[in-house]
Amino acid sequence: MNQLIHSKLLICSCRNSLSQIYKNLVDLSLYIENTSIIMEMRKLTKEEERVIIHKGTECPFTGKYDDFFQKGTYVCKRCGQPLYSSEAKFDAGCGWPAFDKEFPGAVKRVPDPDGMRTEIECAKCGAHLGHVFTGERFTKENTRHCVNSISIEFIKEGEGNE
Ligand SMILES: [Zn+2]
Repeated sequence: MNQLIHSKLLICSCRNSLSQIYKNLVDLSLYIENTSIIMEMRKLTKEEERVIIHKGTECPFTGKYDDFFQKGTYVCKRCGQPLYSSEAKFDAGCGWPAFDKEFPGAVKRVPDPDGMRTEIECAKCGAHLGHVFTGERFTKENTRHCVNSISIEFIKEGEGNE
């Protein structure tokens, strides 16, 4: 692929068409960008795929972060995007990890087709995280992100590339 772009650039410079060279450079940078997005995606197990891609739900009280309160950051299992700080985690007693606030812009809200609930996704890669509920008054944020443990990965404070 790189060789192909290289020879395209070579042909264009012979023709002396600056706009064409520019267009090829744009194509090249888009290609590099797309490749790096693909490279960052982690390969998922069957169960991760069921939840993260097919929007499934793990059984309550079974996820590894349900009863887990260490200091650190929770990132997207698939693309590594930081989603929640442990500071935002609270015990809602519902059987899934609960957070009252995401990092700014990290989570996308999408209404469920039935109009009953609001789905939450990783804003970067679209991985299904769970659902968000408001008005329950658990914390002062009055918001509960109900997240599948399998959709996220915990990085202990001071570890990883934070
Ligand atoms: Zn992601």
